Amino acid sequence: MLGGELDMPNSNTRLVNIDEVQSTARSQRVAAHSHVKGLGLHPETRAALPKGAGFFGQESAREAAGAIVDLIKQKHMAGRAVLLAGPPGTGKTAIALAIAQELGDKVPFCPMVASEVYSSEVKKTEVLMENFRRAIGLRVREKKEVFEGEVTELTPMEIDNPTGYGKAIDSVRISLKTMKGSKQLKLDPSIYDSILKQRIETGDIIYIEANSGAVKRVGRCDNFASEFDLEADEFVPLPKGEVHKTKEVVQDVTLHDLDVANARPQGTRGDVTSLVSQLMKPKKTEITDRLRSEINSVVDSHISQGIAELVPGVLFIDECHMLDIEAFTYLHRALESSYSPIVIFATNRGVCKIRGTDEMSAHGMPNDLLDRLLIIPTHKYDKSAIFSIVKVRAEAEQVKMEAEALDHLSDIGANSSLRYVVQLLTPSKLIAQMCGRETVTKQDVEEASLLFIDAKRSAGVSAKEEAEKKAKEEARSTRAVP
Ligand code: ATP
Repeated sequence: MLGGELDMPNSNTRLVNIDEVQSTARSQRVAAHSHVKGLGLHPETRAALPKGAGFFGQESAREAAGAIVDLIKQKHMAGRAVLLAGPPGTGKTAIALAIAQELGDKVPFCPMVASEVYSSEVKKTEVLMENFRRAIGLRVREKKEVFEGEVTELTPMEIDNPTGYGKAIDSVRISLKTMKGSKQLKLDPSIYDSILKQRIETGDIIYIEANSGAVKRVGRCDNFASEFDLEADEFVPLPKGEVHKTKEVVQDVTLHDLDVANARPQGTRGDVTSLVSQLMKPKKTEITDRLRSEINSVVDSHISQGIAELVPGVLFIDECHMLDIEAFTYLHRALESSYSPIVIFATNRGVCKIRGTDEMSAHGMPNDLLDRLLIIPTHKYDKSAIFSIVKVRAEAEQVKMEAEALDHLSDIGANSSLRYVVQLLTPSKLIAQMCGRETVTKQDVEEASLLFIDAKRSAGVSAKEEAEKKAKEEARSTRAVP
């Protein structure tokens, strides 16, 4: 089981406890879409509802995305990918996120921007591989046995401290009153440590959770869900015949979470002292191809035993025209692998150069990859769609707005972009607060739009300044001619 420590077959590598693994979803990028809960399609006809699951407008793109969800569920997307093509702020990221949501609860969604692959320290292919693995989930189902009893005695068993300073604790004996009478458990120091963390005392009802006949956790019943960092070799045998009940625990992690947890230097987990020393002297924790393939083979064996299942998620690569030919080639090959998420590209470019070549192509993508894509166009919003989206974003960001302010913001959006007006929400709120108000007025919106201009106006200002500078220089050179 992945829930405990694993010895890898024919290898000395040990997989760490899955309980230590924390998902590293890129929550910040997803937070901008917190109002989106799905594609908002009719459950039977699969037609886009004018307003559904937080979505407004962009009906045909949402319906096409719904068809992609169906293809994925019917397993007809292997080796293929999706491209969302449309102007900025037309809901490309939101649609990709909604596809992941439609695929099921806890399906990973990993958003990245293509330019992230360019780093002086990490290879492009490494960045891509890491994100691939962030987008592949693993659902592990474990049976856990739970043993319960009331503590009647808690006795630390001391030994002479080898350092010569008094006594050290070797183990602890717990006397328990269980459903079947009294029982004594001798626990080793790590479990004793967890008892200390929980401050278990005589008279408490405690639970002992077990995996494969060994005590895994000890905790007070009122704190059942608390987690401990325990290694398999810290387990102690569970008294036979005392199992009280069995529960199924389902855990969701990504393959990248497993890579990171297994690459972590051993012996430093959950220990404050070593955390400090790690920060003082950081250890390089490289995730190698070998480690990944070892993890894959353990994952494979868990899948074949029926303990775990792969949950392919969505890897969203925004501004994909920024990728170069090397990255595209790598991605193209990776799409074929059995460990592949659904890759959704997005771009707002038409025909442009494929980076790293002199070739022009649609969306700056190589033709062989374009052939594998299902392309969904997204279109600019009209004022009424912008109004609805801004309203729902204002609610999500807890910005109270007067109707007139909302209307003005929608007008601005119709002449600039949805992205711009969504970004004006918080500055408008701050301006209102500075004036001692909680509700944003039209004037606050106007002020915010003067402080922070949109891209069109900003480009206009630069062009005007450039023209003025040129005119001045020309005038100067004309004057200089005798
Ligand atoms: P970019 O090209 O700049 O990356 P994008 O096309 O990915 O932009 P999003 O980031 O998805 O656009 O949209 C901007 C904001 O508007 C987000 O908060 C998004 O959730 C919201 N949004 C976009 N379209 C819709 C829609 N049809 N319904 C509801 N909310 C939407």
